[in-house]
Formats: sequence, C-alpha cells, structure tokens
Amino acid sequence: MLNFELLGLSKPVMRAIAELGFETPTPIQEQAIPVMLGGNQDVVALAQTGTGKTAAFGLPLVDLLNFEERHTQALILAPTRELCMQITRDLQNFSKYMGGAHVTAIYGGASIDGQIRDVRKGPQIIAATPGRLVDMIERGVVDLSKIDFVVLDEADEMLTMGFKDDLDLILSQTPKEKNTWLFSATMPHEVQRIARNYMTDPHEVTIGQKNSGNENIEHLYYVVHAKDRYLALKRIADFNPDIFAIVFCRTKAETQQVADQLIKDGYNADALHGDLSQAQRDFVMKRYRSRSLQMLVATDVAARGIDVNDVTHVINYNLPDEIESYTHRSGRTARAGKTGVSIAIIHSKEMHKIREIEKIIKRKFTQAQIPTGFDVCEQQLISLVKKVHNVEVDEKSIERYLPSVFSELEELSREDIIKRFVSIEFNRFMEYYRNAPDLNMNASQDDRRKSPSGVVKMYINVGQMDGFDFNSLKDFIAENADIKNTDVTWTDVKNTFSLIEVRTEVMEKIVDTIHGAQYRGRTVRVESRGNRDAGIPRTRLRSDKRRDGGGYGGGRSFEGGGRSHDGGGRKSFGGRSGGGDRDRGKKGKKKKAY
Ligand code: AMP
Repeated sequence: MLNFELLGLSKPVMRAIAELGFETPTPIQEQAIPVMLGGNQDVVALAQTGTGKTAAFGLPLVDLLNFEERHTQALILAPTRELCMQITRDLQNFSKYMGGAHVTAIYGGASIDGQIRDVRKGPQIIAATPGRLVDMIERGVVDLSKIDFVVLDEADEMLTMGFKDDLDLILSQTPKEKNTWLFSATMPHEVQRIARNYMTDPHEVTIGQKNSGNENIEHLYYVVHAKDRYLALKRIADFNPDIFAIVFCRTKAETQQVADQLIKDGYNADALHGDLSQAQRDFVMKRYRSRSLQMLVATDVAARGIDVNDVTHVINYNLPDEIESYTHRSGRTARAGKTGVSIAIIHSKEMHKIREIEKIIKRKFTQAQIPTGFDVCEQQLISLVKKVHNVEVDEKSIERYLPSVFSELEELSREDIIKRFVSIEFNRFMEYYRNAPDLNMNASQDDRRKSPSGVVKMYINVGQMDGFDFNSLKDFIAENADIKNTDVTWTDVKNTFSLIEVRTEVMEKIVDTIHGAQYRGRTVRVESRGNRDAGIPRTRLRSDKRRDGGGYGGGRSFEGGGRSHDGGGRKSFGGRSGGGDRDRGKKGKKKKAY
C-alpha cells in the first residue's frame, strides 16, 4: 500500500505524521497531496468531513511555506469556530518540526483583542471564519497582500451559512497570483460560481461519485407515527447500548425538548444549539468528546464543524428542511475510514424525502424495523453479560471484602448467582419493556389494509392510552356488544384509536351498543371504514345517541361496574399507563433507565 513518503512529503512533515499515527494516506490525501505539492495548481476537491481532508491540504501546505519569513502566506477559511480551531490544531501538529512555524485561529464568539495581538505577530498561516476575518480586514489588522495559498474548507457550508459576500470581499483582497484549494462535500451552483470566478483551470479531485455520500455509512430509515418519534429514538438507543450518537432536530426548541426529555428519562444526553452561549456550547462539546454524553442532540447549524471521531450513529429525529443537509449530517459518522449508521425516523408521508435523499447521495436506504421490547431486552442482556465477562477485577482492593461476600452467597448455586446478578439490571428494563407496543408503522397495520369479504373494517376512538391491547379490545367489544369474541377478526390498537375488523353481520350491533356510549369520561365513537368488495360504504356515523341521551353524559357508561377489560386485572385503568414506553420517569441521574 502507498505510504506518505511516496507522495513527496519532506522529512519533518513525515516525522510529524508518524507521531500522529497516520500510516497510510486516505484516498483524498493520495490524490490531492502530489498535485498540491507541485505548488502551482488550483484544486477543487469533493470530499466530506472525516475523509482526512484537513491533512490533504494541511500537509502539502506546511511543506510549501517559508517559515523563515514572518508574514502571512496561507489563509484557510472555514465555516465554524470549531472547525477553525481543529484546523489550527492539526496544522500546528503537522508543522511541529518545521522550525518557526506559526498558525493562528481567528473566529467570532471570542474576544477580538487577543486575536489581533496574535495576528500582529505575523503567523505564516491563519485559519479564519469569514465573518471575523472581514472584521479584522476592516480594522486594518490583517494583511492579505502576500498570500500565496487560500484554502476554502467546507465551501458549501460557508455559502449555506450566508458567507457569500464575506467570501467575495476576502478573496478580492488576496493577490491574483496565488493557489486556491477548495474543499466541499457537495457542489451546488454557488460553489461552482466561486470556483469559476476565483480559480484558474482547477484540478478536480473527487472521492467516490460526485456529491455522493461516504461508502462506509449504512443508511436506514424507520417508519413510525409522528407521535412515536421520541419513543422510537429511545428504542434505537436502548437497542444499541454502546451508542455514541448525534441526534439532529429541526429547530432549537425541538432540540432542547428532546434533550430535556432524554435527560429526564435517564440518558446521558445534552443539547447543542444556537440559543446556548459559547461557553455552554464548549462545555457540552467537552462532555461529548470525553464521552460523558452518549447522545448529543443538535441543530444543523450548531453541529457544523463537529469533528468527533467514532460517532456510531447519526439520527435524523426529523429530516432536515434542506434535503442537502442530510449529507452533512450523516458525514458526522464513519470518519477516518470507520463505519457508521445514519438513521432517519420518518412517518409514512415522508417517504418521498427518503427517495430524494437517495438521489443526492446515490445510495439506497434500507427500511429497518424498530426493535420490539423483546429485542431490546435481549440486546441489553447480552451487553450486560459481555460487560460482566470483560470487567477488570481489582483483585487487591476487593480481596478484603470477598470472604463476607462469599459467605453471604454460600447457599446459592452457580446458576442462581448468575441469574441474580444479571437480574439486578435486567429486571428494570424487562419491567419497562414488558408491554411495550410495536412502534413500526407497516403497510399491513395501516388503514390501507384491504379487508377480506365477509368482514368490515371499523374505527373506534379508544386505544393504548385507554389501556387496551389487541386482546383486551376484542374482549371489550365482544362483551359490550354481546357478540362472540371471534366475531372481531382483527385489531390494530394504536395509541389514541384502533382499527378493527368484524364480521359484517355484527357491525350494526357494535354501533348500536358501543357508539355514543361513555368510556372513562369520553364518548366512544365507532365508524365503519367500509369494504368496497363487499359493497359496504364508509360511513361517518351521526352521534345521535349522544343527542338522544341529552348530551355527552347521557349515553351508556362502561365504567360503572369497575369492569377490568384486560382479563387479568393487571393494569389500573384509572391512570393512563397503557403503553410500556410511557412516562418512564427519572431513574437515577447517569444510569440509563429502560
Ligand atoms: P478530517 O477529514 O480532516 O476531519 O479528518 C478526520 C480524522 O481522520 C481526523 O481525526 C484525522 O486525524 C484522521 N486522519 C486523517 N488522515 C489520516 C490518515 N492518513 N490515517 C489515519 N487517520 C487520519
């Protein structure tokens, strides 16, 4: 395999690379470095974050500059403060053995005075965000007249963030004779315009297909009811005990709300969005980087420039309004040759967005099923057992306690001890997931299900929130309509309503007895959804019973005898605790609840 030496890099740079542990160049480095080292070529590189693009321009750059001179020779523009700081750190590392190299970062959201002092010292390389750089130019602090190299990093992001005018101004201040290297994950028209206006016959480097996503990312989507989005997110997190994820939301409010809910439910999560102060954002990022957080809930803007490696999952809690942003979101995982999963939680009407994204990333999504409660329990159990297997025992410290521990457990067999230790953790999530509903919205469960002849589909406005599951709902209808249990041939119990299929001959009986009656203070509505093949029309029934009975309280009430409709009297129907995912509540600060 190709090594860095063959790319033509100098000894001091090679030494720095070796120290960083880079052994073989990434594809973008392999293609870009030799061209850039030529020192006389504009380059357009289509590459995402995580591909090693910083080293792709950073290594040749430090090799081409004259560090004996103290004036600014290279300018790197990046969309965010975080990226700017990361580039500065990387370039300081790359130029570590170059004697006299100075790299300075200038960005907004921090005091300008210190940055002005740094710039006055004449760093050979400046990494800047466009807004702050323009400020510096206007104050006459920065001299761009002797710039030999301009790097535009994440050019598409800079333009989407509204830096177009700033870029035009900055580039107009640089000499004509210079090399421009442009890096972008996508190539929208605006980026092409920059390339056309400011670059001469650029050499094009493309990793993978133009505008296509990273090959190492698996794209999955889950279809759920919009109201189940949050529960689906929790399921996905619980099914992946070692998840290290970024959860993207559409608005700042949604970001905060999802993060708050996750924290309340016991997850190690926090929010990152523009309403937080810079210090708060830095604090959140520090916790995420150090893995004190497992889930970072973020807006697109706040997450720009996040350069954390080993992100296992990118979760689109809601797909972005600008469908192109999906590429940037998913690019936060599978960095540096690793693999990762990008997930979209959607409802059925959003399928077209998935198709649109597929066209952009030139990759196919796979539809995945939200894990069942059973799946989650199994996964958690395996993970727990693995932890037990791999835990390091501090023999020395634990030694003095062991005799009393052993004597306490003396009576128990090996199997019993294992079962009991494992149950300490397992019972909690088993309890939580025991009655967890299926969150998947499949075509078969859908309202579009075609009824066979002899039966008719009906709608009833009670569901999981009333404590029903498919069995108890059948019982409830059969009992109250005085029909056989088997007359109800199919049920699909949703949260606030249910769909049922009943034998055509009992339809009227159900309407007569149940429609308009009271159940737990609500008026029950039952409607026929029709069966076109059997010639039964869809009906919207009048609530005549309600009127006849003199208002909402006048109908029959099913609550009277305290009838328990789940057969076993397991649930209390006074509360609203039908679904297993409901109100898990706070269970310890750091510990995940199940
Ligand atoms: P970037 O795309 O520049 O954000 O780089 C992504 C990550 O890959 C960074 O953590 C780099 O330190 C790392 N990286 C870059 N080039 C290499 C390489 N040739 N070998 C190993 N890691 C690399």
